[in-house]
Amino acid sequence: MPPEFADVLIVGGGPTGAALTLALRNSGLDVVLLEAKECLSSDPRPLALSYGSRLILERLGVWAQVAAPTPILSIHVSQRGGFGCSVLNASHADVPALGYVVSYGELQSALQNNQTGCFRGATVLRIESGEEAARAEFSYLGSMRQVTAKLLVIAEGGRGLEGVEGVTQREKDYHQSAVVTQVVSRLLHCNVAYERFTPQGPIALLPFGEKLALVWTTGPHVADMLCGLNDTLFLQRLHQHFGDRLGGFTETGRRVSFPLKLRYATTPTMPRTVILGNAAQTLHPVAGQGFNLGLRDSWELSEIILRSDEQQLGTSEMLRTYRARRRLDRYGGIFFTDTLLTLFSSDSAPLRAVRGFGLAALDALPSAKRFLMRRMIFGARG
Ligand SMILES: Cc1cc2nc3c(=O)[nH]c(=O)nc-3n(C[C@H](O)[C@H](O)[C@H](O)COP(=O)(O)OP(=O)(O)OC[C@H]3O[C@@H](n4cnc5c(N)ncnc54)[C@H](O)[C@@H]3O)c2cc1C
Repeated sequence: MPPEFADVLIVGGGPTGAALTLALRNSGLDVVLLEAKECLSSDPRPLALSYGSRLILERLGVWAQVAAPTPILSIHVSQRGGFGCSVLNASHADVPALGYVVSYGELQSALQNNQTGCFRGATVLRIESGEEAARAEFSYLGSMRQVTAKLLVIAEGGRGLEGVEGVTQREKDYHQSAVVTQVVSRLLHCNVAYERFTPQGPIALLPFGEKLALVWTTGPHVADMLCGLNDTLFLQRLHQHFGDRLGGFTETGRRVSFPLKLRYATTPTMPRTVILGNAAQTLHPVAGQGFNLGLRDSWELSEIILRSDEQQLGTSEMLRTYRARRRLDRYGGIFFTDTLLTLFSSDSAPLRAVRGFGLAALDALPSAKRFLMRRMIFGARG
């Protein structure tokens, strides 16, 4: 049964909340995690983890348990209907791989191993932040309960934050959905990830075992239509849309679509409370930054907690330190993703030419590539 008091209470056991729980496991603090789902997620979405995220997961002792991560050795960036492309290689950034593709579900099961203080089937319905403590009311095994904590961490993905007093969110609807599935191509992927910008939205093909994980962004109606097509027609559409670079496609798995929005809290803290991961900022998946940013949120918060004494837990000073440490990386991630989309979603001929020159210039400038890649891999430090 969850206790009535905790030092740290984490609401939401997705990958960000689970990573924070793991990071605090030897802290001597009473850490409680409440997760609404009864069972582990079988979410099919692929996650491209940066090399920096791998280093964090190694420090958390879970990297070896992540099932079959597929290395990304280079990324090929291009635009449909326009010239210019850029190839980013791991060697340009002095890392063995730019990142690794894993499935959300498999990452979750690696993170959930050896978790203590985690209560599944506990749905938080109300959160209250106060100067002395924060409180969460939740339903568990058919009755209402509450936990009071010195520090409350909201990591519930952001969907339930609207009614929480003190949280202001900004939202931008991209009017796009991502169709996610796995496909087999005629040519080998050779550990190259493809990011192709089209006026309807970006399309990403990521090496995933022998297959490719597809994230095809498009309008919501087209996404529904693509999910409903038979396999042969879907593969033909994909070939037309992506082009010949992988020689066409021969197999597809089940297709699922996700609506896409930018949504972020104007500040990631409230009294005695930190908001992190998707709850703090939900990004478009275009650059595969969302979870990487959320994992850095968790890691930095755990470092601040572990370096402070117990009296400082949840104090305004601790929250100020957290905000300052995360500001540049957080706003950098939001701005970079949103700008990329705005810049690449217009079909105007002059803009297409500017983008083409931009991609060609990036390809010719090793120092610009290195800067961009290291930012994407390790984030920005304030
Ligand atoms: C199509 C797609 C592709 C993506 N690709 C990438 C990628 O390549 N790389 C990358 O870094 N990111 C990617 N992302 C983003 C990534 O999925 C998210 O950033 C990541 O899942 C955020 O983790 P989280 O733990 O913060 O939130 P979530 O994954 O949303 O988890 C929140 C958890 O909180 C629980 N919860 C919700 N409400 C309550 C409640 N009231 N009480 C208790 N528990 C609750 C939920 O059950 C869930 O388990 C992608 C996203 C999409 C949609």
